[in-house]
Amino acid sequence: MHWLLYLRLIVLTAGTLLPFFWMVVILGHRRQRNFERLFFFLCLALTCFFGSSLLALNATLFYGAPPPALLRFAWTFLCLGLWFIPPLVVQLHTEYASVRELISSRRAKIQWSLLAWVPAALLLPRLFATLEVRANFQFETSSRQLGIAFQAWLITAILIAAYWQRRFRKTAPDEAQKEFHKGLGLDFLALAFFLLSMFLWVRNFNGEHEPGLSVIVLMLALGPLVKLFRGVQRFNFLQIGRQRNLVYAVLGVFLALLYLSLVRRASLWLDPYLPPEASAALLLFLPVVFFEPLQRVIRRLLRQTAQSEVDRAQKLMLPINEVARLGDQSKLRKFCEGWIAEQLQLAKVELEFDLSGERQDRKTEDARSAQSFEIRRAGERLGSLRAQSFGAMISGETYAALEFLCEQLPGAFDLCRLIEEKLQLERELAERERLALVGQMAASISHNLKNPLGSIKTILQVQMESPELPASLRQETQMVLEEINRLSARLNQLLQFSRPGLRVGNGAQSCNLAQVTETVANMLRHAADERRVSLELREANGESRAAIGEEAANDILSNVVLNAIEAVEDGGHVRVQLRSSEKVCTVYVEDDGPGISAADQAKVLQPFFTTKARGTGLGLAIVDRRLQEAGGTMEIKSPTGGGRGTEIRLNFPVVVKEPAE
Ligand code: ADP
Ligand code: MG
Repeated sequence: MHWLLYLRLIVLTAGTLLPFFWMVVILGHRRQRNFERLFFFLCLALTCFFGSSLLALNATLFYGAPPPALLRFAWTFLCLGLWFIPPLVVQLHTEYASVRELISSRRAKIQWSLLAWVPAALLLPRLFATLEVRANFQFETSSRQLGIAFQAWLITAILIAAYWQRRFRKTAPDEAQKEFHKGLGLDFLALAFFLLSMFLWVRNFNGEHEPGLSVIVLMLALGPLVKLFRGVQRFNFLQIGRQRNLVYAVLGVFLALLYLSLVRRASLWLDPYLPPEASAALLLFLPVVFFEPLQRVIRRLLRQTAQSEVDRAQKLMLPINEVARLGDQSKLRKFCEGWIAEQLQLAKVELEFDLSGERQDRKTEDARSAQSFEIRRAGERLGSLRAQSFGAMISGETYAALEFLCEQLPGAFDLCRLIEEKLQLERELAERERLALVGQMAASISHNLKNPLGSIKTILQVQMESPELPASLRQETQMVLEEINRLSARLNQLLQFSRPGLRVGNGAQSCNLAQVTETVANMLRHAADERRVSLELREANGESRAAIGEEAANDILSNVVLNAIEAVEDGGHVRVQLRSSEKVCTVYVEDDGPGISAADQAKVLQPFFTTKARGTGLGLAIVDRRLQEAGGTMEIKSPTGGGRGTEIRLNFPVVVKEPAE
């Protein structure tokens, strides 16, 4: 038998399997776009074409004169497949062009689609005519049977594909893709050229060169599918992730098929000496001889693969450790998720740690296609890693890499947590030192100013009392006195701020909060009246012994109530109310002033933050500090109604009653 026949057999087997492989991959694809669906149908057409040719060839080899029904069956599918190939090729490229935004308008897309399908529709009558052929099937030159118009259309479609590849190449985002499209474009050009030469020249040679040329054409037709293989492996073209195990499976099937047909051939040759069953059995067991060497090859391959996978996984860990050293756990987690997904070509990766106490219930759509890996250390479960692939399943090498990562991640996260804690401590220490310094400075300044200020005030007060003071001077002296009062109030605040809170054992200090509230209200009543603000003190409910020193409580309440008085306009209202329960005493200070904007709320506790022309910005900082020292808390609610108003809640811990013995 002519060697060309064997070559044809091999090419046809490959041509049947390759598109079939793609069909399987696409069926397993989770999110199919139009592109994948079109590609599926193109592969179906190719499988029909190659498979039917293979069937016909095998039948001819086997029977010599095959049953007509079988031939008709093969012929029908072959012609159908062939007829569908050109429009699908054009449509597929149109679709990809619109994915790549080379075709943007709907109209252009419709025009390109029409270009794909109108010629095909015009060729329909010819297709039916060809299908009706009863005998004399020309499997090797089926396109000639479909007529010269079809041949022209086939070449045009392939040239259109080459044109699109050229444009894809020009707009490709990176070198690898550029090369990929360049290769595809060249393939299409070569295919078109050979088809043309076959259609035109060979006629003049009486079909002498036809078998060879047709095999070349068939091989060229497989080129793009093989390129696609590599494209997918190299840069995740089609976004299906690497599918190396599928590739191996297809290769295995391909070799097995070839070997089987060899067995059949060989048993035919040996027919004169051996019954076919015996030779077939012998040949089927022949590979056993190769087991030993084969095993060695496979072992080496496996070792290399494992080594390279471990290397890859270790390289994966390098940047993760780098980020871990920055000491930000949430950043590390985000980075890990993005990085692992990118490197292992996964659709999505999610990390979750049980320990960190922030176990959020993140939405996990498509839980079925996600695979969960446990992150453990010394047998203890720390969390989980969920990976979602683009395809139906995660391939073997990715699986192994993920398992390796799960072993390494706890180390990286531990490192990150330690560094985070260290950084946090350092920050706190620096902050405390800064505040201590500010406090000392404030204390010494205010202390040094307070005494002379006191003397000035006394002298002025004495002067005021003297009847000789002229009226004009009296008024001015009064103003000076008021300024001095304001000044000493500020100095007081500075002193309060710099004075360290008295740290006394739990519950050692206590005061009657109702009484302190009343004192503060009385003290500030004058200021309120001056601004024509109504200050209302509501009746407290029951007993209210708070676990806080009287002075501290006074500092807290006076600052908050004064802020409220200062905030409201003429005729505004401030309401103070104390409510006690068994666990907590709460003072509510409400006003109907302009409220505190959300942005300011984050800052009001900072020392020296103020929006007032003559403010110190220390009031709420003092409140916050005193409350923290006593174990109390503060809540700010603003606005309270109609976009205005502020309500400040001060929660004081209550004195724990000793059980009477
Ligand atoms: P100061 O009163 O010296 O400005 P504070 O620390 O007491 O400093 O207050 C900080 C800022 O918080 C004030 O400048 C003001 O903008 C805002 N603020 C505090 N209480 C109120 C309130 N009741 N209504 C509106 N704004 C307030
Ligand atoms: Mg204030």
